[in-house]
Amino acid sequence: MKVELRNLTKVFPSRDKKSGKDVTAVNNFTFEIPDGKLVGLLGPSGCGKSTTLYMISGLQQPTSGKIFFGEEDVTELAPENRGIGLVFQNYALYPHMTVQQNILFPLQNLRGKDKMTKEAMLERAYEAAKLVQIDELMDRKPSELSGGQQQRVAIARALVKMPRVLLLDEPLSNLDARLRLQTREEIRRIQKETGITTVFVTHDQEEAMSISDVIVVMKLGVVQQTGKPQEIYDNPTNLFVAKFLGTPPINVFKGRVENERLYIGENAVLDVKGVKDGNVTAAIRPEGFVLDENGPLVCELSNVEIMGRDVSIVSRHSESLNPTIRSIIDADNRIDATAEGVRFTLKPHKVFLFDAESEERLYFEV
Ligand code: ADP
Ligand code: MG
Repeated sequence: MKVELRNLTKVFPSRDKKSGKDVTAVNNFTFEIPDGKLVGLLGPSGCGKSTTLYMISGLQQPTSGKIFFGEEDVTELAPENRGIGLVFQNYALYPHMTVQQNILFPLQNLRGKDKMTKEAMLERAYEAAKLVQIDELMDRKPSELSGGQQQRVAIARALVKMPRVLLLDEPLSNLDARLRLQTREEIRRIQKETGITTVFVTHDQEEAMSISDVIVVMKLGVVQQTGKPQEIYDNPTNLFVAKFLGTPPINVFKGRVENERLYIGENAVLDVKGVKDGNVTAAIRPEGFVLDENGPLVCELSNVEIMGRDVSIVSRHSESLNPTIRSIIDADNRIDATAEGVRFTLKPHKVFLFDAESEERLYFEV
């Protein structure tokens, strides 16, 4: 089921009538979620991810704009008639019910032509439980399950009605690191197996990158960029997106362009054909540095961290806008950890320039 958001806007009126300003939680969001794909809604806390999800679900009504499921306008449709499955961060299971009763619950509420026989319901519940691999735990109460198992029950409960669209709001946030990784792989597997169009909300860029077919990056209610995870990583449209994606984070410098050359401090570090003279912000991915004893970017060496496959070099530079610069280089490189300085040349396709004022991307020929 394709989901289309057309100029979706949500304004929350100020609670304080006198001084308060209205909050535009989502601002003119237009996007088409392709049938059967998993879309990651990514952005910092408060950027409007949950509000967008609730509007898709029908739990919140947009101030303006429209939502289509396939060709059907569902903007005015009640949540229970949209055919959605919702999973929240806090699993929200009924504590007094067993796993089986929790999963059965949405089916027992079906009325009219959708009403199911007891046998059919049990069979459906069992299928959903099997999909998330909790079919052995059907008689337990939620309190007798781990966090990861509880979240699986919540997912099974969302899947049992065979929704047209699955909506997940930070579903992994309450899990510890290992379970988060495992559950994330599970969600991806289930999504692929069922082919249900899915929207996955997260503030964690690594999570979004690893699980999504397409990512939508949001800031203050406004969509910044949409695309495949790798495309956005390789080609960020503005400084915010460049900084939001990637671990370790991108290294940001004050720079200037003179005669199509990028200067960081005194030294010309890269040819940037096509960029006008002026102040810029230069951002360099950690993997964009090449050790070079004659390299133009001269940094003060702080630390060398050997991490098996890679070496992480921590250094400093007066023009760096981050406290330290982190570069990742292949472990085959020999580096003298006791040296005072370290010099780099830069890989052009790992360097992005942004207007120092607007923070919009300035493109140069590589
Ligand atoms: P996210 O899920 O990305 O953290 P939200 O969608 O929850 O962000 O919130 C977006 C913005 O809208 C925030 O500024 C938040 O304070 C505001 N907001 C969310 N829900 C309400 C509400 N019911 N009433 C007023 N403001 C709200
Ligand atoms: Mg939220």
